[in-house]
Amino acid sequence: MTLSNWAGNTTFHAKDLHHPTSLDELQRLVAGSAAVRALGSAHSFNHVADTDGDLVVLDKMPDQVEIDSAAATVRVGARTTYATLAPLLHRAGFALANLASLPHISVGGSVATGTHGSGDAVRSLAAAVSGIELVTADGSLLSLSRGDADFPGAVVSVGALGVVTSLTLDLVPAFELRQYVREGLREDALAHFDEIMSSGYSVSLFTDYRDTRVWLKREEELDSPDWYGTTPADGPRHPLPAMPADSCTAQLGVPGPWYERLPHFRADYPPSGAGDELQSELLVPRRHAVEALRALFAIGGRIRPVLQISEVRSIAADDLWLSPFNGRDSVGIHFTWVKDVAAVMPVLELVEETLAPFEPIPHWGKLFTRWPECPASFRALARRLDPTGKFANEFTRVLLGE
Ligand SMILES: Cc1cc2nc3c(=O)[nH]c(=O)nc-3n(C[C@H](O)[C@H](O)[C@H](O)COP(=O)(O)OP(=O)(O)OC[C@H]3O[C@@H](n4cnc5c(N)ncnc54)[C@H](O)[C@@H]3O)c2cc1C
Repeated sequence: MTLSNWAGNTTFHAKDLHHPTSLDELQRLVAGSAAVRALGSAHSFNHVADTDGDLVVLDKMPDQVEIDSAAATVRVGARTTYATLAPLLHRAGFALANLASLPHISVGGSVATGTHGSGDAVRSLAAAVSGIELVTADGSLLSLSRGDADFPGAVVSVGALGVVTSLTLDLVPAFELRQYVREGLREDALAHFDEIMSSGYSVSLFTDYRDTRVWLKREEELDSPDWYGTTPADGPRHPLPAMPADSCTAQLGVPGPWYERLPHFRADYPPSGAGDELQSELLVPRRHAVEALRALFAIGGRIRPVLQISEVRSIAADDLWLSPFNGRDSVGIHFTWVKDVAAVMPVLELVEETLAPFEPIPHWGKLFTRWPECPASFRALARRLDPTGKFANEFTRVLLGE
C-alpha cells in the first residue's frame, strides 16, 4: 500500500491498513497483531505514526460526541476532527479553551503529539483531556482519568501506549473573539515581548526575521492606530505573505465564535500552504523567549532562503509527562519551510544548534534532528503497558532510547 502524510514528505511502511468498525473488532485486531499503530488525520511531518505492521485508522468507528452539560465535558471518538467537534460544542453553548492553527486534525492525533495554539493563559490541546480510553497491547480497554497515577503519561503518548479510542475534554462557556493583523513590528519591539503576547486571548507573531506581523485574537476592540509601532492590515492576510487570504478565518476585528477565530485557517479550505511545505517547531521555556528570538534574528539571513514563515506562540504549562510544556510556560518557535528536505535539513540543524542553550523540546509531530531526554516516568509506563514493543516504531525506539 502507498499512503502518505498530508504534506506528502512521508510514506507509511505499513503492510496493511485497517478501518475497524467496532471496538470489538479493534480489540481483536490489536490483540492479534505483532506490530500496530494508529493513524489520525496524517498531518504530522515525520514518521511518528509509522509502522511496518498494521496501521489502524478509526474513521469507520461509530461517531461519538457526547456532551455532558452538567460536568462541562465532551467525550469524543479519537478520530473526530476539531472541525467536526467545534460547531457541535458551540451550538450547545460550549467551547474548547484553545485550538490549533487548523481544525482539520483529529483529536486523538493532536493530543498524542502535544499540539497547541497560542495564548499566555491557555494550555495545549492535550491539557483539556480529563479522561482517555485506549486499547492496550493485549487487546484490553484501559480507561484513565485525571487523578489516576498513569494518566499524565497516557495523554501525550505519541501513540506508544496503545490505540486511543475516546477522549473526554474539558469545556468552557462559548465565547466570541475578534481577530486583528498588525504589520511592521520592529525587532526592537521584542523588548516588549511579554506585553505584546499578553495583549489578547491568543497572540502569534509571524516573522521571516526581518518583517514581523502580529495575529491578535481578543474579545475587546483594538482601535490603537500605533500599537507598538505597527499599522493595521488594510485587508485580510494569510500567514504566508505570498498567499491569498481566502482560506483564513475572518480578520479586521469582526467578532465571531471562538472556533472561527482561534484557528488561522478555515475548516472548508485546505490549510496553510495546501501541503506545499515542511514544518518544524521548537518549544523553549518562556523565560528564554526574547534571548532565543534575538539569536534567531541574528542568523535570519541564513534561515530565510528556505523559510516560508516562522510563527511565535505562547503556551501555558501543563503536567503531562511527555508534553514539551510539562512544568514550563513556553514559547513555540515554529518554522514553515519550503518543501525541499535536502535544502531545509542543514538550516534546521543550524536552528537547533542556535536554540540549544535555551532548553528546547521539539514538537513531536514536526521535523527535528536533536532528541531530548525522554522522561523516565514515560519510558517506564511504555515498557509496562507494551512489554513486547507492539506499538514501537523507529520514532519511539529513538525516543525511549531502545
Ligand atoms: C498545516 C498544518 C498546520 C499545523 N498547525 C499546528 C498548530 O497550530 N499547532 C501544533 O501544535 N501543531 C500543528 N500542526 C501539527 C499537527 O497538529 C500534529 O502533527 C498533529 O499530531 C496532527 O494530528 P493528526 O490527527 O493528523 O495526527 P497523525 O499525524 O495522524 O498522528 C500523530 C501521532 O498520533 C498518534 N495517533 C493518532 N491517532 C491515535 C489514536 N487513536 N491512538 C493512539 N495514537 C494515535 C499517531 O500514531 C502518531 O504518533 C500542524 C500541521 C499541519 C499539517
